Amino acid sequence: MLEHLLETEVNKRPSTVRLQGRILFLTEDPDLIRRQLQGEDLEWDPSIPLRDDISTDEITPGWVCYHFDEKLGEYPYVGLMCGEELPIGRNDVKNGGFVCSVSGKRRGKGSSREASPYAERSAGIRVVIGENIERIYGENCANIGVLTSTDFSLIEKIKNGEEIPLESFIGDAGQIERDIIEYGGLLEYAVARLKGLVTVPEIVADLERSETIAEKIMARHWLKDGSGADIGVPRIKPGDTGFLRTDLRFSHEYVTPMASTFWQDFAGEADLNDTDSILFFRDHLAFLDEVITEDRKAAGLLDAAHALHDRQREFATAKGVRLHGELPDRTGSDGICHIMIQDRYALPGQVIIGSDSHTPHVGALGCLAFGVGTSAVVNAWATKDVRLEVPESIRIEVNGDLQPGVTAKDLMVEILRHPSVKSGEAIGRIIEYTGSTIAVLTIDERVTLTNMAAEVGGFTGIIAPDEKTVLWISEMRGIPVDEIWDLCEGLKSDPDAHYAATIEIDASQLEPMVAEPGDPGNGVAISGLDEHINVDLVFVGSCTGAKRDDFDMYAEVARQAVAAGRRVPPSVAAFAQFGSIDVEAYCIERGYDKLLQEAGFQVLAPGCGACINAGPGVSSSPDQVTISSINRNFPGRSGPGKVYLASPLTCMASAIAGSITAYRSDKDNWA
Ligand code: SF4
Repeated sequence: MLEHLLETEVNKRPSTVRLQGRILFLTEDPDLIRRQLQGEDLEWDPSIPLRDDISTDEITPGWVCYHFDEKLGEYPYVGLMCGEELPIGRNDVKNGGFVCSVSGKRRGKGSSREASPYAERSAGIRVVIGENIERIYGENCANIGVLTSTDFSLIEKIKNGEEIPLESFIGDAGQIERDIIEYGGLLEYAVARLKGLVTVPEIVADLERSETIAEKIMARHWLKDGSGADIGVPRIKPGDTGFLRTDLRFSHEYVTPMASTFWQDFAGEADLNDTDSILFFRDHLAFLDEVITEDRKAAGLLDAAHALHDRQREFATAKGVRLHGELPDRTGSDGICHIMIQDRYALPGQVIIGSDSHTPHVGALGCLAFGVGTSAVVNAWATKDVRLEVPESIRIEVNGDLQPGVTAKDLMVEILRHPSVKSGEAIGRIIEYTGSTIAVLTIDERVTLTNMAAEVGGFTGIIAPDEKTVLWISEMRGIPVDEIWDLCEGLKSDPDAHYAATIEIDASQLEPMVAEPGDPGNGVAISGLDEHINVDLVFVGSCTGAKRDDFDMYAEVARQAVAAGRRVPPSVAAFAQFGSIDVEAYCIERGYDKLLQEAGFQVLAPGCGACINAGPGVSSSPDQVTISSINRNFPGRSGPGKVYLASPLTCMASAIAGSITAYRSDKDNWA
């Protein structure tokens, strides 16, 4: 299979970098950006407010990712919101001759799409500088040869066309990261590794060291050397670099096509390694035809989106990979990848990688699951392993009883506005949720927390498996309880395991929350909102909000509303979308579909839909207000309107009231 790779020649890049081109400062002020696009070169001055929190949705909005080749270079930053404006248009970056792009904190947050750095590189950007850089985005940059740095002194050197040591972009990176940067990308590195040109660092195990659950799973899956013949080491610790053998690898139609192109360049017609543990999903764009605008259709974007689907299906067929695809008889898909992995595949103690930032979803089952970019997917198709620098862990300890009407989503919004999280302390770290509150949450509610570890910026989220986990998996899949307990053996953190920080939350103090538009970190208690906020749209669904327990909550509020003679008012358009065909069957069996329709909801077959601006429930104008149980509300994510994130109960109560309203189980909501 890998002969093609062994014949490929790879060389290290030169030890210095000299760039010829301009610097683009991504500023909060749209006029400053326009002036740069018109040819003005700004002098760097730290008082210039740079844009923080630039998400990959802003670098390459969902519709841009319908392209999966060099054409992406026409679009970087077309979704970048500066003030209330989108100052960067198609081809502006490419035509501007920029080689370096500079922004503030948390550059590249959000989705794991490698399309973002790929679009930047295709437009000419060679260096990205930010105050800090999100893990997946940073890795994706390195994997395709885009250099990153947090050192703002490089700006002057780049501007002057000075020769800069490559070392300046390597800093204290581990050996593997260093080799990847030196070889110019992950796939080049993979070839060097297979040829024995680089060595994977040996682990020096401290047998006295106490471990977290995540560290135990990593040690069990650690490759002893670059050959991958032996798996498992006694101990690993934060900062160790190496490779993990994966149990499951999956990707969806946004990523598989680009990955298939990379694969053909990388491995020719070779088969993928162990196709039984690879899955493809058609989930993101199954409903796109229903909402795409005429403008975008005229620009060929619907055809481009269909090409993504076709390419994935053809590649799945050619390589013999299982594809959870479209429904044969109606619009929709088998399900959202994360919910299907949760319900059908993931097991405690596994290492699972997916082409999506919400892959930590199944960390609630005691897996180590994390999102990776396209190059890492391709590498894993060949080697079954994934590169890793062991992150530190953070413990979020939640104790106390949640008040009636307060859910895991409210807890998560509270976590996201915690000062430690807001300051970026959790970025790139493993978030382990513990405490008495977590112990009593259902599996689906725990999943809401691990799913949204992505919004924290964490490497992943994890919860140690317990009796609830074992019984849930057994009931869902018919696996004998004893077999699942065997998998859970040793899967808990040692009492004196080391954490970089512990965040303590008193659950009893929590109230129903919303995250105000723009960022999931904009949390505020509903009781603290200083105005009455009417809603135009309600969308309940997504990997965060379309599990069985979420629908139990939607249905319960709908039942109460219908019994009280209430339904969604005519001023509000309300949509409920199932997370998978399994969730749909569960709901139909209980009559939830009819109940929701009676309450005024349009009920949709499974898919990601409005969550990614590609299905019924998206906004169509900036003044529209949406309340939704999805996980992120970055600008433009679900249309041009304003999205409030909220719990399943709050979304339903707000749908019926027509305005943002907390659900109260202890009083008559509909009086
Ligand atoms: S439902 Fe939304 S957040 Fe979840 S995988 Fe789909 S697009 Fe991503």
